[in-house]
Amino acid sequence: MSVIEIPKEVMDAPNFIGGEWVVGDGEVIDIYSPYSGSIVGRTNIATSKQIDVAIAKAKEAQVVWGQTPIKDRTKVMFNFREILLRDIDKIAQVVSLENGKILSESKAGIMKGIEVLEYAISLQNLDAGAKMEVSRGVFCEYRREALGVVASITPFNFPAMVPMWTIPIAITLGNSYVWKPSEKTPLTATLLGKALAEAGLPAGVLTILNGTADCVNSIIDNADIKAVGFVGSSKIAKLVYARATALGKRALCLGGAKNHIILLPDADPEMAGVGIADSFTGCAGQRCMAASVLLAVGEVDKQIESIIERAKSTSLGDKMGAIITKEQVEFLNGAIKKAEKDGAKILLDGRKATKPEGLGEGFWLGPTILDGVKEDSEASKLELFGPIMSIIRCSNISEALKIENANDYGNAASVFTSSGALAEVVAKNASAGMVGINIGVPVPREPFSFGGINDSKFGHGDITGENSLNFWSHNKKVTTKWQMQNDHNWMS
Ligand code: NAD
Repeated sequence: MSVIEIPKEVMDAPNFIGGEWVVGDGEVIDIYSPYSGSIVGRTNIATSKQIDVAIAKAKEAQVVWGQTPIKDRTKVMFNFREILLRDIDKIAQVVSLENGKILSESKAGIMKGIEVLEYAISLQNLDAGAKMEVSRGVFCEYRREALGVVASITPFNFPAMVPMWTIPIAITLGNSYVWKPSEKTPLTATLLGKALAEAGLPAGVLTILNGTADCVNSIIDNADIKAVGFVGSSKIAKLVYARATALGKRALCLGGAKNHIILLPDADPEMAGVGIADSFTGCAGQRCMAASVLLAVGEVDKQIESIIERAKSTSLGDKMGAIITKEQVEFLNGAIKKAEKDGAKILLDGRKATKPEGLGEGFWLGPTILDGVKEDSEASKLELFGPIMSIIRCSNISEALKIENANDYGNAASVFTSSGALAEVVAKNASAGMVGINIGVPVPREPFSFGGINDSKFGHGDITGENSLNFWSHNKKVTTKWQMQNDHNWMS
């Protein structure tokens, strides 16, 4: 049984240019629902000509928006929040429809986005700058100024939440914002664009351009784009970072992950069972914070039993959603086969899970647990991006940390234990930007921001929170003197 409704009519995701909804002049991309496997939407790629027109309009709009006092800019964000809360069920339906999440996950993603929105709303009070008499009669002050037109490229896996990391902050700081959503999930972008327009955002301050790699490259290459935010796989994050910075632009590009959980014998079996199973099955494993390797230290069979029980009860359709594409299901099935060939034992086989009824074929894989995975195998190293957990057996915590430290990524790492001292060893030594103690998905809350290290992030600073403010703005320093001073020094 599922609460997702597959609409009979195909939905459109046009581009949003200068406040108008415009069909792209490029080819059509079909949008499939992972629930049914059927086409539920379509979008037309924006051509490079349309992209240049859109960015010129964004630039024009920014001149006025950037000069609007932050209190007035914030009013739009207040309205936006009200509209999102009013329409949350409708937006969550569309997120689930095109992404495959269960509805409660889609709603939670929107609420996480609203947390960032609330932080942006508070900037009018928090970000007052500073002023100081630095020499007799000489005053220095900070003045935050917008960059101009900024761009954001987002992935499929959180169609509302990830864009909401940057939309509220970049726009509240006075920038025009050009957004290229994932071509797999552009329908949510249309709803967010409509909500911002209804909230009173002036035409051109938000631009939505649909497309794939060519569209991203045309946006980056446009001389009026001053900064590029990116969230997606490491391979593309690296490419986008290199392209933008080679043109002298600032870029912050968040990449993929392979997150490790260290399970110690003194861990509470119930907490470990729920926390670890929910981490690798939530959003069907398609989140950059999902646990994908369990480093099982010593005798932890009762905790693993508890993880299996919880994962077994995670039924498809109501407790766990679908996989983004048919090709990705095939890739995951292949990865399980390969792991088996490499010597892993399958403790739970998601290929045998029951699909929800009455929705059509859809793209599904149930929770899968592989035991005895070898440290150097694909299941241990590759970001699979599905509900698969690889268990590597370790004899002590140092061995576990060595494996964790050796992985290319650095998004999240967690430990399950009842010892504060051992938890601290992991917190100190894990090679990850976000660490959890008895938490399977250690997503920090605003204003702590979010982000990894190593191949999980290219660029400096944070995507949200206080550290993001200097990314999305200039911090101009103004030094003032109004009177001649008799005891003047080099400054006065
Ligand atoms: P992806 O890298 O395939 O796509 C991301 C965006 O890049 C999309 O908008 C896509 O159209 C665009 N793109 C694709 N190929 C491109 C190219 N050659 N040049 C320029 N742009 C291109 O990622 P995805 O499959 O949509 O999302 C899943 C990935 O995102 C996973 O690796 C996941 O870990 C990662 N992710 C990371 C975070 C984080 O905070 N670190 C958050 C969410 C997702």
